[in-house]
Amino acid sequence: MRLKTIEKLRCPFDKQNLELQVLVKDTEQNVLEGILTCNTCKRKYPIVYGVPIMSPDDYRQIDLEQPIMEQWKLEHGITDTLLLPAK
Ligand SMILES: [Zn+2]
Repeated sequence: MRLKTIEKLRCPFDKQNLELQVLVKDTEQNVLEGILTCNTCKRKYPIVYGVPIMSPDDYRQIDLEQPIMEQWKLEHGITDTLLLPAK
């Protein structure tokens, strides 16, 4: 997904701006892998194969998303892999 498009995305929970952490880009500067973080509610949304995985809480598949974060933790040294805010 193109950077300009990603910059327009908002958190599905509170519609706030998201902070982008780019992990992998292609040669045309499209983001292939990355993490979008909402600094308001502390939710994280992974970008996988160029597609941001952004669902409301009830529709999120944390059991599928979490292994991606754990993989990135190993590959990219991501330290904070918590997808949802701690209760
Ligand atoms: Zn949010």
